[in-house]
Amino acid sequence: MSSTLKTDFSPKVAIIGRPNVGKSTLFNIITETRKAVVKNQAGVTRDIMIEPVDIWGKQFDLIDTGGITEAGDIFSKLIKEQVTEFLHSVDLIVAVMDGRVGLVPEDRDIIRVAKQTGKPFLLVINKVDSDQDQDMAKADFYEFGVDVVAASFEQRRGLAEILEWVVKQIPENPGTVKEGMNIAIVGKPNVGKSSICNAILGYNRMIVSDIAGTTIDSVDSPFVYNDKKYTLVDTAGLRRSAKREEDLEIISAFKSQEAIRRADIVLLMVDGTVGPTDQDARIMQAILEDHKGVIVVANKSDLGGKEVPEYRKTFREQVERVFHFFTDVHIVFTSAKTGYGLEDLFEMIEKVAHQMTFRVPTAELNDFFFETIRKAPAPVWGTTNVKFYYLTQTYQQPPAFIAFANHPDGVTNSYRRFLIKHIKTNWDLHGMPIRIFCMKSR
Ligand code: GDP
Ligand code: GDP
Repeated sequence: MSSTLKTDFSPKVAIIGRPNVGKSTLFNIITETRKAVVKNQAGVTRDIMIEPVDIWGKQFDLIDTGGITEAGDIFSKLIKEQVTEFLHSVDLIVAVMDGRVGLVPEDRDIIRVAKQTGKPFLLVINKVDSDQDQDMAKADFYEFGVDVVAASFEQRRGLAEILEWVVKQIPENPGTVKEGMNIAIVGKPNVGKSSICNAILGYNRMIVSDIAGTTIDSVDSPFVYNDKKYTLVDTAGLRRSAKREEDLEIISAFKSQEAIRRADIVLLMVDGTVGPTDQDARIMQAILEDHKGVIVVANKSDLGGKEVPEYRKTFREQVERVFHFFTDVHIVFTSAKTGYGLEDLFEMIEKVAHQMTFRVPTAELNDFFFETIRKAPAPVWGTTNVKFYYLTQTYQQPPAFIAFANHPDGVTNSYRRFLIKHIKTNWDLHGMPIRIFCMKSR
């Protein structure tokens, strides 16, 4: 299997579905291979298959997930977690259902899990072998509000529609740095978000919170710094303020979520004289769950006291305590009032942008990987050592990886941290929320 994985940075398209719906048939047709054994019997465990394909000039890796989705009862918690984790590592999801059987409870489960990932998602109703059945077959599935295609893989119906959908979702130049990172500023009220926004945009476009209840329609603010384009997202949200303190808390929490979702890089602002709090830890969790680049901005440095090194040291210690789940997070000290630290902030934004788009060829990655895992005892699953086959980088930003192993459940969190630590050191990726997914392979 490893030899077929030629494309390093291709988007990954996963075919999911219950046993026997036609996943391997679809995989075989698109990849023009006979690798995925098509069988007429439900529940036969098999490998995950990955094949690079080139359709109409767009390259992607097609994945037949039979190996996980059929590894047991889809309802079982463990399998569901594995499937969910796996789906987070792919870019597009094609869920196949059986039109002759109709919608069954497991299908709802699969649709729910796929939707929760937030990835582009196509529902394919297979085995619609006659034209007349098309609308009937699809009707069952419209309630989910996702794209639906009726198909018969055996009769090669619906394939063009499926491929068209996939190709449409793939950007022209995957892997290239898109112009203009989206930057969101989040944090508790009164830490200086609007003020830093003003300082960044260079003029007083924001109405600072002294004026209560001001509402301006949501806009993003594009700007240029050092000849590079950026967009500050939801700057209007920063202008808005509420009358009561509680409202402010609720509104800002809600706004933060939306801003985080739309951002590439999130600036989590805290009052440097106070330090991060539990509420900031919750915001940080949300940022990490959304898998975004993040910089902690310690504002109001002008009030930080005369002992600057001491002040910074104390702040760092607080960061390590409050963000104990992400201790190497980047920190920049600023003062929105005096403009102090803005250059450092932009240097850091550029560094994070660079780290986010990091790419390593599979060969180099695996040389490093096998050298690294030799340094530590192999993780153990039951009585057997976990054996790794290879590591591949996914198409995502910030960098994420999939490790293929014989017993992925044996790869403990501490072993993952060990791998992540070495990856970060080897390629200067400190401060990045790196993820490693583990998948079963034989
Ligand atoms: P998987 O378990 O989801 O990978 O399903 P397979 O691709 O192994 O297919 C399961 C069975 O469904 C096989 O016997 C296929 O020949 C059959 N099958 C696949 N596509 C169609 C179709 O369009 N129409 C009909 N009638 N049968 C199909
Ligand atoms: P927001 O609620 O997070 O958007 O915070 P604001 O930008 O509205 O700032 C809250 C208060 O802190 C205002 O009175 C600002 O003038 C003040 N402030 C913001 N940044 C700084 C800073 O760097 N130093 C000092 N001393 N005060 C600041």
